[in-house]
Amino acid sequence: MAKLIAQEISVFWFRRDLRFHDNTALTFALNGPYPVLPIFILDRNILDGLENRADPRVTFIHREIQNLNLQLQEVGSGLQVYDGRPVKVWQEMIKNYNVKAIYANRDYEPYARKRDREVYELLAAQGIPFISKKDHVIFEKSEVIKDDGTPYKVYTPYSKKWKSLLRQRPTTSYPSALSSGNWVQVPHKAVMPLKDIGFSPSEIELPSREVPEKIIKSYHENRDFPAIKGTSRLSLHLRFGTISIRQLVTTAGRLSEKYLNELIWRDFYQMILWHFPQVERENFNRKYDGIEWRNNTEEFAKWCAGETGYPIVDAGMRELNSTGFMHNRVRMITASFLTKHLLIDWRWGEAYFAEKLLDYELASNNGGWQWAAGTGVDAAPYFRIFNPDSQTKKFDQKHQYIKKWVPEYQEFAYPAPMVDHKFARERVLKTYRKALENG
Ligand code: FAD
Repeated sequence: MAKLIAQEISVFWFRRDLRFHDNTALTFALNGPYPVLPIFILDRNILDGLENRADPRVTFIHREIQNLNLQLQEVGSGLQVYDGRPVKVWQEMIKNYNVKAIYANRDYEPYARKRDREVYELLAAQGIPFISKKDHVIFEKSEVIKDDGTPYKVYTPYSKKWKSLLRQRPTTSYPSALSSGNWVQVPHKAVMPLKDIGFSPSEIELPSREVPEKIIKSYHENRDFPAIKGTSRLSLHLRFGTISIRQLVTTAGRLSEKYLNELIWRDFYQMILWHFPQVERENFNRKYDGIEWRNNTEEFAKWCAGETGYPIVDAGMRELNSTGFMHNRVRMITASFLTKHLLIDWRWGEAYFAEKLLDYELASNNGGWQWAAGTGVDAAPYFRIFNPDSQTKKFDQKHQYIKKWVPEYQEFAYPAPMVDHKFARERVLKTYRKALENG
């Protein structure tokens, strides 16, 4: 059958690496023997599952692929955007083009691994290589493992090994691949409008990818106070690869050890998800399988709406609902409250965060939720139950964060807590102990 373009080409598949600068697989593609056709697939397997038709992450991706397209047009090329299911799109691609190789950066989520395996098999049957590279993390899979060859399950020794490996093998940065690239030349074409893919633009403000150095320099002092802009807010950009983790790690190495440690948590959870993909649905620590979750739907609805009667929990949930972001300290407090005070299964909270968080990332979200519930790898011990009031005293003493998100808040006239702290504490301890005894 006649090909749309007879020329031999390679294809670069953008996924969670929406940038030209310091992009590993893209650099390899452009250094390869064929001109490169860049593509992006609006994946129906994911898009069709999103309930919010103004999902801010879709707005973000759409904006970023438009930017990529405009920049490619300046060098005579253009991003080919497909709307469909990846395997089907690839079947069409290899029919229409004379594809000699595919390049992409690796993605460690179970869905992505399955998708890539299917695409790999489809291409292999045609003798087309699918070349994948590490880009999303500094160390992947089994690069950082214990001396006995097994994966780490505790963060601190993992991070020590991670740092020593980085000293031995400093990361390489790849120069921007845009202007020097051997791109397939295509006619200019705009990316289809959002409405053509069934979405409308979100009103939510999207965080910038520029972070003042002073935030990272004083990260260790400010990072725990949600009223301060003391964290980088780069999580969305790390999620979609609009910034490079290698560059950020270099900056962190120069400016803040504490900040570097957080970036290592990100690698750690990606490594855990790779080795233990079952955590997507199951407790990492099966000792807790017998927890009798109460799973009260009315209580869950109150937590989601930020109406628990605990101002710090309510502020966090309202920040999440209106901005798609929640400060890390408050993520820990709200997650602990749901799982421990209300005894609601961490999977419910995880799913709610997955729907709302701009930076939603399976590995870190699952890691954070299982940490809070005590069921995870290197998790908070089951008997550590955050007291929302003492957390407030420590981290939002003047109630600035609370007042920002709960404007009606008055210290002595706030609705009563939906559950008494002391009572909830005893109830969860009893429930967890019972699970451990029977487990
Ligand atoms: P900063 O404090 O500036 O940290 C810099 C970067 O380090 C972050 O952007 C992130 O990529 C990484 N990082 C920081 N803390 C962690 C951590 N504990 N685990 C893994 N990576 C970390 N992070 C996500 O990226 N996506 C999620 O879906 C997610 N869900 C979470 C759910 C719960 C219950 C908890 C407790 C934490 C979750 N986190 C998640 C981790 C953390 O809260 C966010 O990464 C952080 O709040 C993002 O804000 P920031 O970019 O200002 O972070």
